[in-house]
Amino acid sequence: MDGIRCSFCAKHHTEVNKVVAGPGVYICDGCVGMCVEIIASTAEAPVEWPDSTQMTDEEMLEALPRVAAVEKQVDAALRIWVSRLRARGVPWGRIGEALGVTRQTAWGRFSGEE
Ligand SMILES: [Zn+2]
Repeated sequence: MDGIRCSFCAKHHTEVNKVVAGPGVYICDGCVGMCVEIIASTAEAPVEWPDSTQMTDEEMLEALPRVAAVEKQVDAALRIWVSRLRARGVPWGRIGEALGVTRQTAWGRFSGEE
């Protein structure tokens, strides 16, 4: 991972002033400001921004690798959570059940074993 990115605008943490972290997700000060404006407005929720339906192909293609980087950081957090549960002795079956997959699928995705 090349550093934390805002899960909303995909900006790198070095491009913003502050980032607040959740489980695998992050939001920057600029996006918190947008949230405050949206919550204060009469707009119907959910409001998507940036609105990809209003972006050109080139704008979307330019943003695409940043959206993929956000996906990777969510996946990395998920792996940390599963690894902590495993370290506590929680069986693969319960982890799979929580994720809505079989024990075998959870093990295959997260164990790192073949
Ligand atoms: Zn942001």
